[in-house]
Amino acid sequence: MSNMEKIPSGIRLRTCRACGRKFEYPIKGGGATRHHCGDCVDVPADVRKLAERLSTRVQDLEMEVKRLKEKPPGPGGLPS
Ligand SMILES: [Zn+2]
Repeated sequence: MSNMEKIPSGIRLRTCRACGRKFEYPIKGGGATRHHCGDCVDVPADVRKLAERLSTRVQDLEMEVKRLKEKPPGPGGLPS
C-alpha cells in the first residue's frame, strides 16, 4: 500500500505554494517547510499569502490555456 508519508529520510519533490517552484523536502539545513520552499519561508507572511493567491491564479490560467490548446474554440465562436 502507499505509505509515502511514512518513509524515513525520504526526500520528496514538493511544489511551493507561494512561487510554484519544485523543491526537495526535507533538505538538511534548508529552511523549507512542507508547503514553502527555502526562499519563500523567509518572505513575510502577508506577502507570502499574496504570492499564494497569485500562484493559484497562475495555476488556474495554466490549466485554462492547456485546455484551450487541446480544444481550440470551433468556428462557431464562443458559446453564449
Ligand atoms: Zn517558493
